[in-house]
Amino acid sequence: MTAQIIDGRVLSERLKQAVAAEVAELKQDHGLTPGLAVVLVGEDPASQIYVRSKAEESLKAGLHSAVHRLPAETAEGDVIDLVRQLNADPAIHGVLVQLPLPKHISEQRVLAALDPAKDVDGLTVANAGRLASGLDALTPCTPLGCMIMLRENLGELTGKTALVVGRSVLVGRPVAQLLLGANCTVTIAHSKTRGLPDVCRQAEILIAAIGRPQMIQGGWIRPGAAVIDVGINRVPFRDPVKAAAGRTRVVGDVDFSAASEVAAWITPVPGGVGLMTVACLLRNTVTAARRIKGLD
Ligand code: NAP
Repeated sequence: MTAQIIDGRVLSERLKQAVAAEVAELKQDHGLTPGLAVVLVGEDPASQIYVRSKAEESLKAGLHSAVHRLPAETAEGDVIDLVRQLNADPAIHGVLVQLPLPKHISEQRVLAALDPAKDVDGLTVANAGRLASGLDALTPCTPLGCMIMLRENLGELTGKTALVVGRSVLVGRPVAQLLLGANCTVTIAHSKTRGLPDVCRQAEILIAAIGRPQMIQGGWIRPGAAVIDVGINRVPFRDPVKAAAGRTRVVGDVDFSAASEVAAWITPVPGGVGLMTVACLLRNTVTAARRIKGLD
């Protein structure tokens, strides 16, 4: 079997276009411009790239975008004060605090200050609790992207056996909740799971959110499964000259070429889930704006 590629470029472009159309309608019919504020503390290079891309895509979709860049040595209290100001700012409907924060700042305390109605990353305890309770919630963006990819390709998910490898607050747990909400029979695996290859072989849907380059091997995949690879890992180039020069490439948590021979659907890395994340952030910002304005 050669798996069908689930193309993140196509799906994310479609979602961004739908969001842009909705933003234009909200502006015209209700005078509402959804606004997204991103808070970046410090100079982490990966975070800087993510924040720039979030701001650019917000503007392209017609959103109001505000980026607050704070020096790495900013006190925790000042970050919390900024979050509270953004909570109160009527032009802002979504607030995203780019993680990780510098070590002297507690992510938990900063997130606790964030208004759950503006929590477009779905990371507050209120939104995680609502999701786990089967209530409407602002849901983390990467898990939302995984679900869109599955639904677009598999259609109805009811009754399917799904395995999520990884139990982080950002990806593993929320995607498992979303799969449960879609009536899948869900297993969550983690670093203490015994016999992971056998557990994987049961899954009609396999979501890998581990952060271990190409850990999931072709022989672990159930024939005909759908494989969603969330992992983003930098590894040295295969070419020894480039590798010696410190050049790296990005791979997922799944051995893509081996898994493609067994699975029916698979997401590539890069070009897969990663592209959905920003598109889902725009989607969540519009959802938050609608709810805040009572238009949902
Ligand atoms: P994380 O917080 O480090 O969580 C990793 C999870 O994998 C943990 O639950 C851990 O188990 C589990 N794990 C580690 N080694 C394992 C093993 N040998 N066998 C089974 N499970 C194992 O990472 P994350 O934030 O969820 O991110 C996961 C990956 O997704 C990373 O590569 C990250 O860069 C990527 N990511 C991509 C996007 C995107 O937009 N595509 C967004 C977010 C993250 P324990 O809980 O037992 O430690």
